[in-house]
Amino acid sequence: MSSADPVLSLIRPEILALTPYSSARKEAKTGRIWLDANENPQTPSAGRALFNRYPEPQPPDLIARLAGYYATAPEKILVTRGSDEGIDLLLRAFCRAGQDSILITPPTYGMYAVSAAIQNAGVVPVPLVAGKNFALDPAAVLKAVTPAVKLVFLCSPNNPTGALLDRAEVLRLTKSLLGRAVVVVDEAYLEFAGTRSLTAELDTNPNLVVLRTLSKAFGLAGVRCGVTLGSPALIGVLQKIIAPYPVPAPVLQAALAALTAEGLAAARTSVQALVAERKRLAVALAVLPVVRRVWPSDSNFLLIEVTDSTRVMSATRAAGVVLRDRSRDHGLANCVRMTMGAPEENNAALEVIARV
Ligand code: PMP
Repeated sequence: MSSADPVLSLIRPEILALTPYSSARKEAKTGRIWLDANENPQTPSAGRALFNRYPEPQPPDLIARLAGYYATAPEKILVTRGSDEGIDLLLRAFCRAGQDSILITPPTYGMYAVSAAIQNAGVVPVPLVAGKNFALDPAAVLKAVTPAVKLVFLCSPNNPTGALLDRAEVLRLTKSLLGRAVVVVDEAYLEFAGTRSLTAELDTNPNLVVLRTLSKAFGLAGVRCGVTLGSPALIGVLQKIIAPYPVPAPVLQAALAALTAEGLAAARTSVQALVAERKRLAVALAVLPVVRRVWPSDSNFLLIEVTDSTRVMSATRAAGVVLRDRSRDHGLANCVRMTMGAPEENNAALEVIARV
């Protein structure tokens, strides 16, 4: 693929030219006696049969199941250590330190700016429109994309505000930016929105990247399994820079189990229960004296504007209930974020907030 490609032309030249590390598992796929990777022939601690071997860099059976779940081709998928690693890889692939930038839409997920800082990339903020339920301002985004901006991070549903971005607007923006920037749509919370993923648009939008994760709907935050979806050319570049064995054997086991028919049904049930809790809590919170507003949410959390976030945070802390203070985020004075827990956990939180 030549650098006339609308996405590859945006990649750091030294990454395009990079000869990646060739791991043992990449070089030999079949064999009888494995003496190539300096592994121990056994796992001395009993009952861990597979753990002495390096795993496949991108296990084909996991990729196949993810391709089924996300309804896309295996070549468009990269499994990472949480979607946080996907964010980091994108920064490192596209942004030259001290020269290039990303665009973010505050208030939004904090890791985009942190990964940018680690790479010494600039951050161009184009705030969401608070008066329109934190909607995207596509005209302002387009205006802010200078040649230095290589990645535009959009989060839908957005953390910490909770709502989906307008699908048609995101797609229009992506098309307008073809050849200029890659649009990364972070869909960590998509399952709670009950709408279609933008993964269906990857074929027609080479500069679109979608981030997904097993941390939320599948309840596997502890497993660290994220998914980056993009054009095969772009996924190929990320494969060059990801650490050699990013899918540990226990992660593979847990992820494969989550993606069986049984696992998928359990995730659907869990999502339904959390969405029901979100609806119940939105109503129950809205009538409390300390609550000014509960923002509409398409995710597994609620953004709550209160009269005094410091008081709400200290009262809940004192009761052992941990909420997230978002009051220092752009435009979120006196806002706290509450994740939907189990019904009894939510009731406990509600009781404490009711007494503030
Ligand atoms: N994106 C968003 C919007 C998030 O809120 C989070 C975690 N809170 C992540 C990505 C990272 O998720 P993980 O690394 O667990 O996949």
